[in-house]
Amino acid sequence: MRTASDMKITIGHLYPDLLNLYGDRGNVACMMKRCLWRGIQAETIEFNTGDSIDFGKLDIVLLGGGSDREQMIVCQNLKRIREAFRDYVENNGVVIAVCGGYQLLGKYYQTDAGRIEGLSLLDIYTEQGEGRMIGNIILRSELSDIPVVGFENHGGRTYINGCRPFGRVLYGGGNDGKSGFEGVVYKNVIGTYLHGPLLPKNSRICDWLIEKALRRKYGPVRLTELDDRLERLANAYICRRFLKKKLARANIMTEN
Ligand code: GLN
Repeated sequence: MRTASDMKITIGHLYPDLLNLYGDRGNVACMMKRCLWRGIQAETIEFNTGDSIDFGKLDIVLLGGGSDREQMIVCQNLKRIREAFRDYVENNGVVIAVCGGYQLLGKYYQTDAGRIEGLSLLDIYTEQGEGRMIGNIILRSELSDIPVVGFENHGGRTYINGCRPFGRVLYGGGNDGKSGFEGVVYKNVIGTYLHGPLLPKNSRICDWLIEKALRRKYGPVRLTELDDRLERLANAYICRRFLKKKLARANIMTEN
């Protein structure tokens, strides 16, 4: 098996000039750092609107959140990259898309001000609802051994049809405030409403993305464990604060 220093991850950060709400750039920093701590080389390439993108050079693609107005501008650029992005996804390319970026993976986002056409990479769609869903959110996800925590702030309600959700809502609104689902997982793509930023708060999810990217490029790999005691303490604090009784009953409270 390869040693870590032989391996390299290239992260493509799409449209940080527009999709840049809530410090989601922290997700890039987290992926870079968790690679570098393990001796895995990592670099990030930023693509602003209008730049051409060679998806063949990328191992992880990140799309952040944005206002409806910014999404509308981004949407005009998406047509040019749609086919290449679809090939990347179908070819098991790794994607993490947050909030506005998550909505853009779908067919459309219908707002009161007009329809924002998405990438149609996934069979999902979003419609603006009454009021915004704002606040802390906690999920149970198959991708993490402890609850996934974050912060949501969205006017859109996302309907994922038969797609696999990222998690089940333990606290907060999620995709539409009713279904109990949050986000979507398709192949190596995660779409989610969770800001936070997501990855520093949920190191398991960060490692899921890194592992999928390395596996796709190099074959089976095993990530070395990092010392995540602080992250797990922070997670336990949030869970205690928002769902003590519920979690104690379900016996999924974490203390370490
Ligand atoms: N503009 C979208 C909405 O309000 C996404 C918001 C965001 O990215 N936080 O639903």
